[in-house]
Amino acid sequence: MTLPAKINPPKLGEPYLLTPGPLTTSYETKQAMLRDWGSWDDDFRAMTRSLRSQLLKLIGAGAEEYDCVPIQGSGSYCVEAMLGSFVPRDGKVLVLANGAYGLRAAQTMEYLGRAYTLLDKGDYLPPRGEEVAAILVDDTAISHVLIIHCETSSGILNPVDEIADAVHAAGRKVLIDSMSAFGAIPLEVQKSKYTAMVSSANKCIEGVPGFGFVIARKDEIEAAKGNSHSLSLDVHAQWATMEKTGQWRFTPPTHVVAAFLEALKAHAQEGGVEGRGARYIRNRDVMVEGMRDLGFETLLANRWLSPIIVTFFCPADEAFAFDEFYNQMRERGFIIYPGKLTVVDSFRIGCIGQMDEHVMRQVVEAARDALAVMGVRSAAPPAKALEERKKLAA
Ligand SMILES: *Cc1c(COP(=O)(O)O)cnc(C)c1O
Repeated sequence: MTLPAKINPPKLGEPYLLTPGPLTTSYETKQAMLRDWGSWDDDFRAMTRSLRSQLLKLIGAGAEEYDCVPIQGSGSYCVEAMLGSFVPRDGKVLVLANGAYGLRAAQTMEYLGRAYTLLDKGDYLPPRGEEVAAILVDDTAISHVLIIHCETSSGILNPVDEIADAVHAAGRKVLIDSMSAFGAIPLEVQKSKYTAMVSSANKCIEGVPGFGFVIARKDEIEAAKGNSHSLSLDVHAQWATMEKTGQWRFTPPTHVVAAFLEALKAHAQEGGVEGRGARYIRNRDVMVEGMRDLGFETLLANRWLSPIIVTFFCPADEAFAFDEFYNQMRERGFIIYPGKLTVVDSFRIGCIGQMDEHVMRQVVEAARDALAVMGVRSAAPPAKALEERKKLAA
């Protein structure tokens, strides 16, 4: 059953973060950090156990073959831990990139000094199953394929299941960066059958930053022993210690874990992945419709728009300048995000965090006021932007 989302807005004067993490968290989540915990104490061990088992419940049927390993640090630490632990030293990864996070994963492989090939689709075009299948036929050394679930730099929702099918048909293994999607967009293990996936505390579960987690097949975690290049990012070692002692190997972010458990409670009350996803979808729909009414255009067609973050083209109107628009939005209580496209100017508005459709309507009103104050008469993008977008349809 999905309960109506209970939103707990930030205190007066605190701006909403329309950004994909850190994001706006509830008052209760922040309040949960007002206590100190001993990392070796039974109470904290129970918290770690609870965190691991609650996260596993979110992956659906088949979860008993998987385990959850939290890792200190931001999301990128987990991506690095996953690549370094599950890809054997003589393995080879096909990295599927269509934005900054795919490219960062490729850079991580570079640092690891392990073999990889990059399929770079540019700013936002989705990698498709067929082209992945063709690459796997040509390059038999590839052992793993890394898929970015929601590429947060454009906000595109990549076709994970389609790609995973192609990878499995070719007898290779799937690794997923579901950082900005996990907890709001279903990722069923029985469909995508991943070896491992990663996400972090400060995205769709709405916790505060400080750790991430790997969810991986138990047999693969066991087989990962000795693969890692790094002491602190060794998933097998972290898992083995947690299994044996209930503790994290090195100082855990205790307050962040306490906040995360509070955030998980709210996630369950909202109806889990389905309820959380429904609120974000509503946030996106209300915000996108309002922005389009103002004349703004999205980079992506509806089919590829994630309910996580949306990229808009900057208006062609000479009176528009992103920095000024940002400041105007900031004055009205909303922190937006610059875009990451290389070809045309853009900006992004996030849909995740403690916000609902009422807040999203205020965001649109703030954008309307900002345009008026700046003297922008049309929010329509330059012709070049629309040409760029045609590539998606092709
Ligand atoms: C947030 C995010 C990451 C991790 O970024 P950090 O800044 O290290 O937390 C990785 N991949 C994707 C797709 C993300 O959205």
